Amino acid sequence: MQLILETTAAAQTQALGARVAQSLREGDILALVGDLGAGKTTFTQGLAHGLGIRAAITSPTFVLINRYRDGQGRTLHHADCYRLADAPVEMWDAGLGDLFAGDDIVVVEWADRIPSLLPEEFLEIAFAYLDEDRRQICLTAHGARYVTLLQHLEKNAD
Ligand code: ADP
Ligand code: MG
Repeated sequence: MQLILETTAAAQTQALGARVAQSLREGDILALVGDLGAGKTTFTQGLAHGLGIRAAITSPTFVLINRYRDGQGRTLHHADCYRLADAPVEMWDAGLGDLFAGDDIVVVEWADRIPSLLPEEFLEIAFAYLDEDRRQICLTAHGARYVTLLQHLEKNAD
């Protein structure tokens, strides 16, 4: 299952993130792909806001994976594979494999750089730059859990 959307402002991409947050369960994995500036971090900011996280979300650079506690006591991990020379090895060493196997919510930017680490089931979200303020956002379910998630998301569309 696949949903293809278009947003015309950063705030709209954040609002989509907040909507996805309402459909998330513990253990869910979101694999974000798309070029620099396509909107992956912007989306994650909205998602974190939707989870009730008050902290400012910035791209994890020095620590590779940032951790936040959400409004319900759940944990969100935000990983970014950009700028890593050997992303699968470095992310494995940082513990991302364990996080994928665990019960927390995990969002990974540049997930296409760690194909060998990704689990069988995850939600892929691909961001494409259309023009300065417009992005195409394509959500693809890999696995039954994420078909359910997208159905839930569609049902709760504004
Ligand atoms: P990435 O994490 O993919 O590198 P960012 O989210 O950091 O990208 O940057 C996206 C930039 O594009 C931000 O400066 C944001 O304000 C801007 N922008 C403009 N329009 C949009 C849109 N429709 N969706 C997301 N970001 C947008
Ligand atoms: Mg980013």
